[in-house]
Amino acid sequence: MEKYDLLVVGSGLFGAVFAHEAKKIGKKVLVIDRRMHAGGNVFCEEVDGINVHKYGAHIFHTNDKKIWDYVNSFVEFNRYTNSPVAVYKNELYNLPFNMNTFYQLWKVKTPEEAKARIEEQVKSLNITEPRNLEEQALSLVGTDIYEKLIKGYTEKQWGRSARELPAFIIKRLPVRFTFDNNYFNDKYQGIPIGGYNKLVEKLLEGIEVRLNVDFFSDREELSKLAEKIVFTGQLDEYYDYRFGELEYRSLRFEHRHLNQQNYQGNAVVNYTEREIPFTRIIEHKHFEFGQQPTTVVTEEYPEEWTKGAEPYYPINDERNQRIYKQYRDLADNEEHVIFGGRLAEYRYYDMHQVIGSALTIFNKYKAMQDDSSL
Ligand code: FAD
Ligand code: UDP
Repeated sequence: MEKYDLLVVGSGLFGAVFAHEAKKIGKKVLVIDRRMHAGGNVFCEEVDGINVHKYGAHIFHTNDKKIWDYVNSFVEFNRYTNSPVAVYKNELYNLPFNMNTFYQLWKVKTPEEAKARIEEQVKSLNITEPRNLEEQALSLVGTDIYEKLIKGYTEKQWGRSARELPAFIIKRLPVRFTFDNNYFNDKYQGIPIGGYNKLVEKLLEGIEVRLNVDFFSDREELSKLAEKIVFTGQLDEYYDYRFGELEYRSLRFEHRHLNQQNYQGNAVVNYTEREIPFTRIIEHKHFEFGQQPTTVVTEEYPEEWTKGAEPYYPINDERNQRIYKQYRDLADNEEHVIFGGRLAEYRYYDMHQVIGSALTIFNKYKAMQDDSSL
């Protein structure tokens, strides 16, 4: 007899939301995670009263009122609005690309002048249907912005030419003809007051969580514990890499605790030149308007992913999508395993999208439970 209705592998947002909803309908749930803490990539460590985003800066944003209300039912959010600054060859530019950026680049003062500048550059390129990130970026903002603010950052972030990357990645960034430095277009945005751990703790309240347990170290025994498994790890690893490895981009974080109050005056500063090896410096206290006497900053170095390293970003190019599809076909036919999250779905999901996916997949699971009890 199984002891649990569900074994949830991974305590990131997907696993935590799924576990929470399952507990709410009376299911007995066990959550495991191979890391020493719950929360997956949104986990923060407190240093001198500052919540340090250990796996990269996380800003919550969404247009979906249902998702916003959902997260706010667990924790209140502050009014943080992400407005990164970019450094290129010692000059500062506002992001995303907006009237402030255009003024800094060309000294143009009106939307009309800015549009004319971009159009003049785009026209000469003759791109009709952008086929990759480079063509997409060039056709949106022209050559100057592409060369100074996109090319170097993108190529070090992804470790490959912008011509080999899918166009959708750059469409994440708004282009605006107003003086508005908000990095996101979404209606709702902020950071949980008290940090992301609070959100995860609330989601997992009353649920058994075992840390430092890798599903693959005891796959058979763990699988016997529950009627169904919710798997949020890597899909290729689940199937022993039988169709080959899916590629990821990894990151190395260098954290420094500094004896000064304010290091860079902003939470996120991007370094867009190829020659500087990190992509950005995060100063964590600014996400929560911190006034502590010290500060923690983190340099983010993109790295090649090899087995055993943390898989941060799926590389959704054609080759990897083809391999993923083969794994997906197997996954779709599993009766006892539900797959979800950034890794198992191999998608460049933001937090609100992962929560949305967890709720959708949970509702399907719930409908099946309701059917079988008729
Ligand atoms: P994860 O958080 O990766 O959780 C998966 C969990 O499963 C992990 O804890 C892992 O240890 C565990 N696990 C895996 N395999 C096993 C196994 N075999 N056994 C046991 N446990 C296992 N989103 C935003 O909305 N805004 C942002 O600003 C933002 N910034 C980001 C910055 C970076 C650098 C990165 C990498 C991502 C960012 N995201 C952001 C995306 C966000 O992190 C994800 O959408 C979300 O955290 C994914 O949740 P998840 O549960 O799918 O995966
Ligand atoms: N990007 C860029 N210059 C920047 C910031 C972003 O060229 O200063 C590009 C880069 O290709 C990156 C993509 O835009 O991968 C998406 O950026 P985002 O900030 O959304 O990335 P994330 O926070 O998910 O790493």
